[in-house]
Amino acid sequence: MVLSWLVITQIDSKIMSSSPILLEVQNLKKYFPVSGGFLKHKNKYIRAVDDISLTIEPGKTLGLVGESGCGKSTLGRAILHLEPPTSGNVFLEGRNIGLLSKKEMRLVRRDMQIIFQDPFSSLNPRKTVAQIVREPLDVHRVGTRSDRLNRVQYLLDMVGIRNNVLNRYPHEFSGGQRQRIGIARAIALDPKFVVADEPVSALDVSVQSQVLNLIAELQKSLNIGFLFISHDLAVVQHVSDFVAVMYLGKIVEQSNVRRIYSQPRHPYTKALLSAAPATGITPRDSRSKLKGDLPSALESMIGCSFHTRCPLAEARCRNESPEIRNVGGAEKHLIACHLATE
Ligand code: SF4
Repeated sequence: MVLSWLVITQIDSKIMSSSPILLEVQNLKKYFPVSGGFLKHKNKYIRAVDDISLTIEPGKTLGLVGESGCGKSTLGRAILHLEPPTSGNVFLEGRNIGLLSKKEMRLVRRDMQIIFQDPFSSLNPRKTVAQIVREPLDVHRVGTRSDRLNRVQYLLDMVGIRNNVLNRYPHEFSGGQRQRIGIARAIALDPKFVVADEPVSALDVSVQSQVLNLIAELQKSLNIGFLFISHDLAVVQHVSDFVAVMYLGKIVEQSNVRRIYSQPRHPYTKALLSAAPATGITPRDSRSKLKGDLPSALESMIGCSFHTRCPLAEARCRNESPEIRNVGGAEKHLIACHLATE
């Protein structure tokens, strides 16, 4: 059921597009300056997000996978403008959110929410469950006090937290229950787009699937577009419609979930799938073993960013950076590799 009781304030659009796309990211970059040298000049940058473009449709999930440290979480935060991007654009329903005033941005925040990784540190231990879930409603002054309380109770029912818990504190709940409370808070304002940043990685395996199923149910009933960030390929496969594979700040492969898991094309995607615990679905290839660690994103790498670990690297891979291009025809399959053919 779509919750339409919130009064949605219309915002003047700065740039509108006719696309049915919910979220569009164009050439997004997020560089962090690093001080160095005797005078502490900021002469180097960590390229956490390096020229990323992607789209998400309403009610669909784009899974974002990659090793720890590849820039996944920074990308999620830059899309939400929790970290101001270095350059690039983010459009929500055609509005360029980077061009909005502070007041307009505050209103757009209703439509864009985040579920955090750690349900232990993301909930304020000094606040009751009612206060935590009600907070976004209070901040945006939605309804009367009693409307908000009713809404909190409704949201908690929706995420499966029942029995009068409004006056209890986070420490009284298990990890899975805390994450459900965090999810209730994230959907309190009926958002259109949610970034779920490793939402089950801090949970016991036994409760991971319950929380994943809850997210999938909410997505369907509320028609939310998700960016689902995880290093766990099985989790991403379970919840995603589309998958983007990220390496050292860049998307190296992107397609629908079936193609990524049954016909991976980029050597890095193949290596990730080979390294994952056997699912019985993904092809295993011992030649695709991933060697070494993720290189530093501090230096700008010449050529393909994966060439230092790629078993197929050839001379041009060390000198020319591969463009991302479609090798899947109508069934879009984007890949950044010199060797990829249609
Ligand atoms: Fe490997 Fe070269 Fe393809 Fe990069 S461009 S993934 S180094 S084969």
